[in-house]
Amino acid sequence: MSDLVRRDAVIVGGGPAGSTLARALARSGASVTVLDQRNFPRDKTCAGWITPAVIGSLGLDLEKYRRRGHVLQPIHGFRVARMGDRPVHNDHGAEPVSYGIRRCEFDHFLLARSGAELRTGAPIESMERAGSDWIVNGALRTPLLVGAGGHFCPVARALGADLGRGEAVVGAQEFEVQMTPEQAARSSVRGDTPQLYFCPDLAGYAWVVRKGNWLNVGIGRRNPRELGEHMDHFLAGMVREGVLDPELARSRAKGHAYLLYPDAARPLIAEGALLVGDAAGLAYPESGEGIRPAVESALLAAEAIRACNGQYTAGRLQAYSEKIQDRFGDRRVQASAPAPNANPLKQFAASLLMRTRWFTREFVTRRWFLHEHVAPLPCPAPLVGA
Ligand SMILES: Cc1cc2nc3c(=O)[nH]c(=O)nc-3n(C[C@H](O)[C@H](O)[C@H](O)COP(=O)(O)OP(=O)(O)OC[C@H]3O[C@@H](n4cnc5c(N)ncnc54)[C@H](O)[C@@H]3O)c2cc1C
Repeated sequence: MSDLVRRDAVIVGGGPAGSTLARALARSGASVTVLDQRNFPRDKTCAGWITPAVIGSLGLDLEKYRRRGHVLQPIHGFRVARMGDRPVHNDHGAEPVSYGIRRCEFDHFLLARSGAELRTGAPIESMERAGSDWIVNGALRTPLLVGAGGHFCPVARALGADLGRGEAVVGAQEFEVQMTPEQAARSSVRGDTPQLYFCPDLAGYAWVVRKGNWLNVGIGRRNPRELGEHMDHFLAGMVREGVLDPELARSRAKGHAYLLYPDAARPLIAEGALLVGDAAGLAYPESGEGIRPAVESALLAAEAIRACNGQYTAGRLQAYSEKIQDRFGDRRVQASAPAPNANPLKQFAASLLMRTRWFTREFVTRRWFLHEHVAPLPCPAPLVGA
């Protein structure tokens, strides 16, 4: 035990939640290690769409990001439809309302700039309590262990989350492929205008998002049963309507699961530990957007951690739970079945509303997807830039 390395915090997971918290703590002088089971750059199943709020909270220098040669697709509008109907096109003007990024590039960029010690390709093998400290992988000793390992985070499990059993998850399938120059030239999908298609039972939606010559196509549903069939049905429709090249539609999709905030019943804190991002189950319920909640939870955690002055009792960390509740609202205290699908009357009303410019623009995009009604969490001054 004597050759244990002591750290002020050990963060498990180097996605947007883990890297944002690592950076915030490292910039305030803390010694931080981030452990991730994968080597970076690594893929993450995600449409890779981020709002200006995320860029602001991260203090991201877009020019620097672009100069690295990373894909940064400005988004100016959306095409929205109920599956099978003609999409309504909404133009949101000259200023980008979102950006398309590739997660392998974005997450690597954020982690590399964090200033933390990185141990990648290093899955968590053990975490034990030793007095008021944690011993992680028999190598690191820390008073603060952070679970930022995404939906299947081992720290969340250790804190009592009922991973994969009693939880009402969103199931998703997706592929991201690079189009050949010929496919790109033929494609009717515009990079500045993602396409969103809602399932008729309103249990989820599918998307076609182009980022430069990369095409990201997927579906997410509150009830993951028969997800593969829903994806196949959607792809067949896209090919029929000429949106997708048949060859691209045959790309191999990957699956993933995660929790929407109101459905998540995970603990946020314990003695000497807390959860951020998907590990805590924070994604927005209407859109499934999870990067913004991941980044915001990390900034809120950093504030709460600093106020603890090194004493990470559950009582002191409670301030973090309160900040999350103030920011995201109430959540379930017990895991339960997914919410039932919308009744036929709601489905009918939605089918009419989805054909209108007013509803698709004001509700679907501006409120549900862009979350414009929630002011961004500002990036703390010492973290701005880079
Ligand atoms: C199909 C799909 C599409 C999505 N599209 C969008 C979108 O367009 N926009 C958006 O905002 N959100 C989207 N989301 C949600 C978003 O991807 C997540 O909310 C976001 O990645 C959460 O970030 P995080 O840092 O909490 O976790 P993650 O990004 O999942 O990072 C967790 C990290 O922990 C590591 N890890 C896991 N287990 C261990 C272990 N045992 N030991 C060590 N390390 C471990 C992983 O390797 C990973 O690097 C989408 C999700 C899905 C499934």
